[in-house]
Amino acid sequence: MKKVYLSIAQPSGKELAYISEAIDSNWITTAGPQITQFEKALESYLGTPKPVVTLSSGTAALHLALIDLRIEPGNEIICQDLTFVATINPVKYVRAIPVLVDSEKDTWNISPDLLEETITDRIKKTGKKPKAIIVVDLYGMPARLPEIIRIAANYEIPVIEDAAEGLGSYIEINQQQKFCSTFGDCGYLSFNGNKIITASTGGALICRDETHAANIRFLSGQAKDSAPHYQHSQLGYNYNLSNICAAVGLAQMEVLQKYVDRRREIHFRYRSELAGHPELEFQNEPAGYFSNYWLTCVLFPNEKLRDAVKKHLEMNQIESRPVWKPMHLQPLYENSPFFGTKFGEYLFTRGLCLPSSSILSDEDISNIAALINDCLENHE
Ligand SMILES: *Cc1c(COP(=O)(O)O)cnc(C)c1O
Repeated sequence: MKKVYLSIAQPSGKELAYISEAIDSNWITTAGPQITQFEKALESYLGTPKPVVTLSSGTAALHLALIDLRIEPGNEIICQDLTFVATINPVKYVRAIPVLVDSEKDTWNISPDLLEETITDRIKKTGKKPKAIIVVDLYGMPARLPEIIRIAANYEIPVIEDAAEGLGSYIEINQQQKFCSTFGDCGYLSFNGNKIITASTGGALICRDETHAANIRFLSGQAKDSAPHYQHSQLGYNYNLSNICAAVGLAQMEVLQKYVDRRREIHFRYRSELAGHPELEFQNEPAGYFSNYWLTCVLFPNEKLRDAVKKHLEMNQIESRPVWKPMHLQPLYENSPFFGTKFGEYLFTRGLCLPSSSILSDEDISNIAALINDCLENHE
């Protein structure tokens, strides 16, 4: 029996040709035409006038976004509590303080109501506004971005959108698709191997304007001043993407829409195959929302049942994972201020992410769903 993974890369078939092109023209390091083409392809797909800067990872993109916003040690940054740890770690890199906020029930992303409560609480307790808000499009589902942007604007706090999992997701606003990563002050994408498309590794920052994009490029290339010798007046980083990776990313851009469509098909196939168990719940798209459904996650009525299903799948060589463990429950972040109820914890203890790779066939999904149905029936 072959092992089924949660989310793996799927080559488009063009990767080798584009890599060869890069090698034949001797653009084999961190500069080259494929980088520019990849950035242009992303701008055009996102339909945004904002400049896209590719970087070595999504984590690097967030780190530089925080530096570009002039976040200083001790500043408070509001962060979505339910997420992958990479959303929060860069806050610690710049020695700022993450203030964690719980999720809301439909999108599983940061709750706008709790966000506002948190802002007013912090102002009252510290006399200062939080310096930024990091919101996540979890599993590809757009957060309540219009509400979040409105609240943030009222308090004049910049928003950073972690769209690492949300490439291809959008919200329809005035009959136009506004893509995830283009909301807020800046946003970022990841091309890690488990995401919807990959560049082998890599990330991109969608910047507010050319001035910010230029600063990000400056910082990611060791912050060299313009001087005839090596002169540095600012702390720099080595965060550039390799042109070889950009060649892979470019090849993947050609199939991006196909992969988004396929992940959605997989999501709705799971829903219909599991429809005999109405007690199961899923993330829900609010009206006008479109998720790429990077991963399909299902909520079971209790932890015991979730664990039983996970074990049953494992015995059949099928990988599944619990929903992200909330940051306020992580040893690394347990002392951070937290605002919320126990909703994130509820999702963590009952939620299971199911194999959602675009390479999976309809039959694969039916088999996985049948195993889940078996398990549920045997438990009743
Ligand atoms: C993958 C991921 C990241 C980090 O992206 P990398 O490119 O792996 O550094 C950040 N946030 C979320 C929600 C992710 O899933």
